[in-house]
Amino acid sequence: TNANTLLKVSGLKVAYGGIQAVKGVDFEVHEGELVSLIGSNGAGKTTTMKAITGSLSIADGDIEYMGRSIKGQGPWDLVKQGLAMVPEGRGVFARMSITENLQMGAYVRNDKADIAADIDKMFTIFPRLKERKDQLAGTMSGGEQQMLAMGRALMSRPKVLLMDEPSMGLSPIMVDKIFEVIRDVYAQGVTVLLVEQNASRALSIANRGYVMESGIITMSGDAKQMLSDPKVRAAYLGE
Ligand code: ATP
Repeated sequence: TNANTLLKVSGLKVAYGGIQAVKGVDFEVHEGELVSLIGSNGAGKTTTMKAITGSLSIADGDIEYMGRSIKGQGPWDLVKQGLAMVPEGRGVFARMSITENLQMGAYVRNDKADIAADIDKMFTIFPRLKERKDQLAGTMSGGEQQMLAMGRALMSRPKVLLMDEPSMGLSPIMVDKIFEVIRDVYAQGVTVLLVEQNASRALSIANRGYVMESGIITMSGDAKQMLSDPKVRAAYLGE
């Protein structure tokens, strides 16, 4: 443990019925870090993220945020404390407009006066959302929905942003744009935990990385070192 540990997962186990998807996972995210969690399909990455953000209950272990256990707390409470998630598949409110989706992201905030200014800020980060601000979210492209999901999470003014496979299903240009925004958000002081199948992109922007396989962490380290590690390259970078 480090003095700046913001998120600490220890001995985490999560099961679906009798099937253990996460089998005892330990990792930490320090304040001001960008950490990537990589690994193949079914490794348990999404399950881990859902356990942290309170949408799945855990079978064993603990999750600490800012030095206190958050075990058993629901997503609402956690967002209020600064822990926001951009879910896999985006989860935008399909029948609401872009502006309404962004407003929903601020539902935990008390400073209502600043919300309009923050929506303008999201429109500056994502000009595409501004052009379409009255469009129903369900009719937008996958990339636009990803931008909206990120904008909505940022509207809660998170301290930590957890992102589950933001590049999934997007064109290379859109992936570039999304990673550019992740980098900017991080540069502005938001701590980031990123789950990605695109291991090369994910490690390229990270400080540290963890590899997850079949419900356990199999490798961890400095992201740049992992990128040049022959084992990581062979298993995850298609070499
Ligand atoms: P992917 O990159 O494919 O999303 P992942 O690493 O995020 O993979 P998880 O989605 O966490 O993996 O899945 C881990 C394991 O748990 C898989 O074997 C999956 O089939 C199983 N699993 C996930 N959700 C459920 C569920 N609702 N009910 C039963 N099993 C589930």
